[in-house]
Amino acid sequence: MNTWYSEGLEHVWLPYTQMKTASKPLAVVGAEGVRLKLDDGRELIDGLSSWWTAVHGYNHPHIVGAIKKQAEAMPHVMMGGLVNKPALRLAKRLADITPGDLNRVFFAESGSVSVEIAMKMAVQYWKNHGQGGRTRFLSFYGGYHGDTTMAMAVSDHEDGMHGVFGDFVPGEIFAKLPEDEMLEKALDEILAKHSGEVAAIITEPLVQGAGGMVFHEAEVLKKIRTAADKHNVLLITDEIFTGFGRTGSMFACEQARIVPDIMCLSKALTGGALPLSAAIVREHVYEAFLDDDSGKAFMHGPTYMGNALGCAAANASLDLFDAEPRLEQIQAISDQMEHELQYCQNIRGVKDVRIKGAIGVVELKQTPDHEALKKAFVEKGVWIRPFGNIVYLTPPYIIEADDLSQLTVAIHEVLKG
Ligand SMILES: *Cc1c(COP(=O)(O)O)cnc(C)c1O
Repeated sequence: MNTWYSEGLEHVWLPYTQMKTASKPLAVVGAEGVRLKLDDGRELIDGLSSWWTAVHGYNHPHIVGAIKKQAEAMPHVMMGGLVNKPALRLAKRLADITPGDLNRVFFAESGSVSVEIAMKMAVQYWKNHGQGGRTRFLSFYGGYHGDTTMAMAVSDHEDGMHGVFGDFVPGEIFAKLPEDEMLEKALDEILAKHSGEVAAIITEPLVQGAGGMVFHEAEVLKKIRTAADKHNVLLITDEIFTGFGRTGSMFACEQARIVPDIMCLSKALTGGALPLSAAIVREHVYEAFLDDDSGKAFMHGPTYMGNALGCAAANASLDLFDAEPRLEQIQAISDQMEHELQYCQNIRGVKDVRIKGAIGVVELKQTPDHEALKKAFVEKGVWIRPFGNIVYLTPPYIIEADDLSQLTVAIHEVLKG
């Protein structure tokens, strides 16, 4: 084993990992297209897009080229009082492609931070309107919005990954997704009960990702928008996972034909190359912060906000969405997974098989031995990482049919045992 691996591993702390018992992480030395190259010469077909980021595959020459070019010109400059061309170009482009009058972009570096920003914006929006009492949030069971403190507060901490911190985070208001008339009525009642306290509803549109890849119909999202309007609270849609095509449309909320008041984006924003996120707001939200005295200004500013390298990568990623048929590729992936994963339905221990856009999920009746499954997948030359009771695929959109088949066949064979 390399010394960089053995020496470094003594000092690094891995995410969501019991360091005492976890198997050793794989050493990746390169990546190209849908393939991860390991230090020992093996290659794995990637089924996850590195936590849903690398939608154009790894090391896409157009993105790498844009980063190199920007690195030579200027990697970064602070955004306080200074702006850079990639950031302004990206702001304009995001305003153009997001629905409705989502026109004003606030940049940050991670998804969780964009959620914190959206929440702070919602609170200050009401304060600026003279309603300082609105400091609470309504979110949904099964939801996940990030790992920072307030993002945890609006994530489901019962079944989620934040159970330990249940006593630490402020108690927010949880409801069930309004998937039927009774639940719609329940949501309405909760909002009525907390009227005057709630700043915003926050939701993951169409797919609750880290909460277990649970899907809901566009109609449900529409009902949430209607409830927000009726009770006069803002709607934040967290499209950090769903944004940029994953559910079959560029943004999930397009399928419900709704416009949130604030939209959070990250993950696939730079095509998996660099950390970057954005909270994008509608005109009426932005206008609430305009005033002749500075008291209404939005008080937030991450150090690396609008990072020129990250924004250059994001612009390059958007170029690829323009130049290449990504939505058609997503449809093809969807159709192929629909066809090939259905065979898992017959395996004992499988509870459900479901597909939405470029997300394929095999849900098991019980939580499997994650380490054993992961190992079996690696032996078959694929990178698939089950969590909870699901085994899922979120492949890069450029994956070829043969490679996707290797992923679906591996799932079938490993689960069949
Ligand atoms: C990943 C994710 C986040 C958190 O983003 P980070 O970049 O990990 O902070 C928030 N919301 C959703 C829906 C996510 O999938």
